[in-house]
This record gives sequence, structure tokens and C-alpha cells, in this order.
Amino acid sequence: MMSLRLPSIDGLLRHPACLPLAERHGRESLLAGLRQLLDELRSAVLSGQLSAVEISPEVLAGRVGERLARQQRSNVRRVFNLTGTVLHTNLGRALLPDEAIEAVHMAARYPLNLEFDLASGKRGDRDDLIEGLIRELTGAEAVTVVNNNAAAVLLTLNSLGARKEGVISRGELIEIGGAFRIPDIMARAGVRLHEVGTTNRTHARDYEAAISPRSGLIMRVHASNYSIEGFTARVPTAELAELAHRHGLPLLEDLGSGSLLDLTRWGLPAEPTVRQALLDGADIVTFSGDKLLGGPQAGLIVGRKELIAKIKKNPLKRALRVDKLTLAALEAVLGLYRDPDRLAERLPSLRLLTRPQADIFAQASRLQPALADVLGETWNVSAVHALGMIGSGSQPVARLPSAALCLRPQVSKRLRGRCLLTLEAALRALPIPVLGRIDDDALWLDLRQLDDEPAWLAQLPHLQVDS
Ligand SMILES: *Cc1c(COP(=O)(O)O)cnc(C)c1O
Repeated sequence: MMSLRLPSIDGLLRHPACLPLAERHGRESLLAGLRQLLDELRSAVLSGQLSAVEISPEVLAGRVGERLARQQRSNVRRVFNLTGTVLHTNLGRALLPDEAIEAVHMAARYPLNLEFDLASGKRGDRDDLIEGLIRELTGAEAVTVVNNNAAAVLLTLNSLGARKEGVISRGELIEIGGAFRIPDIMARAGVRLHEVGTTNRTHARDYEAAISPRSGLIMRVHASNYSIEGFTARVPTAELAELAHRHGLPLLEDLGSGSLLDLTRWGLPAEPTVRQALLDGADIVTFSGDKLLGGPQAGLIVGRKELIAKIKKNPLKRALRVDKLTLAALEAVLGLYRDPDRLAERLPSLRLLTRPQADIFAQASRLQPALADVLGETWNVSAVHALGMIGSGSQPVARLPSAALCLRPQVSKRLRGRCLLTLEAALRALPIPVLGRIDDDALWLDLRQLDDEPAWLAQLPHLQVDS
């Protein structure tokens, strides 16, 4: 039987190797860490897994120090998004401009007029903080903001169509990632789904035939994450709005991304604008704050005054409302839209989306030698043209001409898959994890979104790949 000699807890706490740890992490955390470590060592020896006879206080302090440092690291971590998808839902979508970050900072630090009208000294409404800007930017009569666009759709449907039928084309009964399905949301909103037409073709007469005294609204959903091509037919919004109004029904349009400006002015694929949907006659339009708008997570509901008033009276609004940090960020982002000429410089998502391919390719060429050097013989590293995407359901088929570092393992076909996964994991294990994508037997690092080049280069020496 092996005997284990461990220092006493009291002795350890006073040991010079442990003093800095107490200073950094607090005495309680250090004590708990030491107790846990000593317990583990004792049971490892008892079970025969460990045959250590004596362990020095320095070694123990080192181990506890590592453990405490790991515990202290937050779970919310910055990453490098080199996947090629700019508005990546799993990586936090849009990045906020400095103006919005400063506004969030102010809202977090000080009391503010969240629901307080400074002019009259009376109670205010938090939507008022951004209503003027949104009306100016979209032409809407009124506005309300909730937690995200899924909430906006749920709240609008429930407020305007509960216990009635919602008429919608079969081709628009979509599912968006994360279990957001139009039929399910309708059911939860208390609206009975009345689908019309077929998957690829829906005509005005299909809507006409479906309308009855039971109808409560007509809904249109922007098919954001897929496209139907070929033999298709869709009723234009203006015609559908005219039809809805002839029957006294409101037309809701869920735009998904919903751009505030025509993106073609920056050479990007055309995306329907909120203003146009309203001009075409949609009574309510819903869209996300953190997709093409480039702001914080939020769901914007804009449209006719009396319908917005009804939506705001729904008790669900209170459950789905946005917090002060979101409102502060949203107002700052919307403010930037007043100066479209400078928007692409100031709004990070638009700046990244419009970054020229030549620029990205030059960066790939510049970084290629450093990465090739770290990866060694096993990997072929080349700067290549690549195709990225906007993400978050905007323009699912459109591709953004970009450039990437393409990493190909120089091993037999049989070993390639393993090799790629190992490198992918090593990149994820870096101090600032680097996320790329595996495709066509290679790991691609799309550099469109790499604007902090020094930080990326500085951590390359930490990359550990056993080839
Ligand atoms: C993205 C999207 C939603 C959901 O928006 P979130 O802001 O992610 O909740 C709803 N409808 C459409 C058409 C979308 O594209």
C-alpha cells in the first residue's frame, strides 16, 4: 500500500506559492480549490491510479492556480468568425458600431428616461425613444419593439388574429432555424391556419376563395432561408394588399431581415425594404434588429397606427418587451441610417458585407506565410478566392465573393477527415477560438471578417497540432 504525504490545508494557505492565488481569487475560492484537489489526490492513491509518495506545495499551488484560472474565465467568449457567413446566428449576428456600444455603456451605468417623459415629467412609453427615428426611416405611422422578430410575429398574430383564420400561401409556411415554424407560431398565437395555393404557385384567386367571415388577417412571409425557382407564381404585395383591404382584412408581412435601405447601392443583392413593403400596402411589417439592420437583437413591428395601438395593448407585449440596453443600442444604430453616405464606414455589418474581394485576397496572401510556417509540412496553405454568404436567412442563394486561407492536409485520403477535425479542434482551443469551415477535403478560413489581424497573428504560436 502506497502512502501519500500531503501538506495540511493550513500550511498550504500560508505557503508563499499560494499567497498570490489568495490575492487573485480570494481566500474562499482558494480553500475550496485546495480541498477539492487534495480529496482527488487521496482517492486516486487509494484506488491505485496514482503512486505519488510526496507532492510539493509548489506543484499543488500550480495545479490549483490553473484550475482557478479556468473557473474564472467566462463562458461567454470572443471568437474569430472565419466561417464565411457574416450574420451568423450561432455567433451572435451583427456587431454593434461604436456609437451603439457607447449608448449601451451609458444605459448600463446610469439611470435613464426609459419610461419617463422629460418634457412633461409624466410617465412615458419606452417605444417612444425610437418611434420618431423609425417613422422617419420607414414611413410607418407607428412602431413597437419586442425581443426578436419571432416575438414580433407571435405578438402581431395574437393581437390581430386570435380565434380567427390566418390566410397564408403554402409556399410561405417556412421553418427558420431554432424551431421557429410559421404553422406552430400561428397555433400558439391562437390563429387558425388557412393555407392556400400550392408550394410553388399561389394566385390571387386562391386567396379570394379562402376568405370568409372567419378570416382575421392575410399573412405574407419572406422566404428568407430558401428559394423556390422555376415554375412559380406569387401575388405581388401591392395586389395582395388591395385584395385584403377589399375584404376589410389587414395584411401582415414578415420580412425577416428587412433592410431599411436598398442594398444594391452598395453592390449587394436586392433585399425588400421595409419602406417599400409599407408603400405596397402592407398594414404591419415585422423584421429583425440584428440581421441586415446591423443592430442589437430585437423585433420591430411597424405599420398602421390603430393596429400598433392594439398590439401594444396585448398583455403579451409586456412579456416580450425589450430592455434598456437594447433600446439604447437600437437608437444609436438607427441614427447612423440618417447619413447613408457614411453608413458603410460606420456600421460594422455593412462594412464587412461590402469589403472588396481584392482587399480580402491581399490579406490572405499576407497571412499565408505565417500560417504555413506554424502548420509545417503536413499542411498545404494557400490564399484562394472563396464564396461566403450574408447569413441569417438574407439572400440564401446569393454568394459574396470573398477570399480565404485554404488548408489542405498532405496525407492519404483515408486520414484526411481525422486530420481536418484535429486542426479544427486546435483552432477552437486557441485563446480566441478561430472558427472556419470544412469543405471539399480542406479547412477554409474566410477572412472577410478578420479585422483584428494583430490579435489573430499574436496567438498563432499557441496553435498545437500534432501532425
Ligand atoms: C429570421 C427570421 C425570423 C426570426 O427572427 P429572429 O429575430 O431571429 O427571432 C422570422 N421570420 C423570418 C422570415 C426570418 O427570416
